[in-house]
Amino acid sequence: MYWHEEKECMGREELEQLQLERLQATIYRVATHVPFYRQKFKELNIDPDGFTSLEGLRSLPFTTKQDLRDNYPYGLFAVPLRDVVRVHSSSGTTGQATVVGYTGNDIKTWSSLTARVLTAAGVSKEDVVQIAFGYGLFTGGFGLHYGAELVGASVIPISSGNTRRQLQIMQDFRTTALICTPSYALLLADTIEELGIPLNAFSLKYGLFGAEPWSEAMRREIQEKLNIVATDNYGLSEVMGPGVAGECRERRGLHVNEDHFLVEIINPETLEPVAPGELGELVLTTLTKEAFPIIRYRTRDLTRLIEEPCPCGRTLRRIERITGRSDDMLIVKGVNVYPSQIENVIFEIEGTKPHYQIVVEREGRIDKITVLIEVVESIFFDEMRKQGRIIDTIKQKLASELGIGVEVKLVEEKSLGRSEGKAQRIIDNRKL
Ligand SMILES: [Zn+2]
Repeated sequence: MYWHEEKECMGREELEQLQLERLQATIYRVATHVPFYRQKFKELNIDPDGFTSLEGLRSLPFTTKQDLRDNYPYGLFAVPLRDVVRVHSSSGTTGQATVVGYTGNDIKTWSSLTARVLTAAGVSKEDVVQIAFGYGLFTGGFGLHYGAELVGASVIPISSGNTRRQLQIMQDFRTTALICTPSYALLLADTIEELGIPLNAFSLKYGLFGAEPWSEAMRREIQEKLNIVATDNYGLSEVMGPGVAGECRERRGLHVNEDHFLVEIINPETLEPVAPGELGELVLTTLTKEAFPIIRYRTRDLTRLIEEPCPCGRTLRRIERITGRSDDMLIVKGVNVYPSQIENVIFEIEGTKPHYQIVVEREGRIDKITVLIEVVESIFFDEMRKQGRIIDTIKQKLASELGIGVEVKLVEEKSLGRSEGKAQRIIDNRKL
């Protein structure tokens, strides 16, 4: 089931030709209308008319979150405000807010791309879609709302919060598709259990989750507890909002809407492209946006590109689920290590708790990583031989994931410090 079959299943050559034409138009647009890019192109000696191949993308400057902040509120808009029909903004909890805008055409494109994501996840006009993302300056609610209407589904714009009411409406209105963050889906599932509501009181079939990283283990738990097919989707307000990429029913990576966005995966240290299939930072360039085109936006999100064709028939390449942020990267023995890689391995091991700490030390000239992992009582007090087996399994999996060896220590439940806000996962004792 496709929304735009001719685009979603396009041949690579034809797609690249379309991408090139759209990239040329985008470069012309920003060079003409956005002083920030005009200036950067001048500094880098870039001729906006000189683009004849997609490889040229690599010569273009990156855009960062800080650039958006520096140009607050409207400095990066490529159209006058009278052509802007919608403005969204990031919350700005960790710094100044950023602002993005949409023309009427941008809203149409956005709706059609979220319609693709919804269709790929199984949603059709037969469905009742409950959108439990916040509606407001955040792009999650509105982005998927318009797509769901376009698909022809019955949309319940309930917005976020008020869990009991969500569940009541979910039962009464016979919701078949739930849209929210994965952690909220889990909270809803746990509340259903707590209240003792039987699952057959609900009509749920699909869950579309996004806006935060989640693990495969979490997907299994949500699917089981809510008896649904749970898919992951991805977007960010700086680039458009939801609709940038989404999983199909295969649930093995997210198809990027490559006819509207160019994907690069870079090493966040060297800013060079990583080897095919390697983990790195996702960089996105918009190809069709009018009000807020963006060139090589450094998302800070970590993923890898999946080149293999997908059994669903879509030719749009996939990215792996987002596993963390490049800001958290550690360099150990010259290798980039992301705490989220370690976390993913731990989460897959039975008996471990979601509490761990990564300690980095330097002995002589050699860096050493020790991962402390809380385990349930039954394992902690178990015989040494069994513990040894668990440690070996974790070590092996970590070595193959990270490419370097690490030490593993199992510790008793609740022995690692808890903090009020964000847990302190990394203790770097190296004096660098
Ligand atoms: Zn697919």
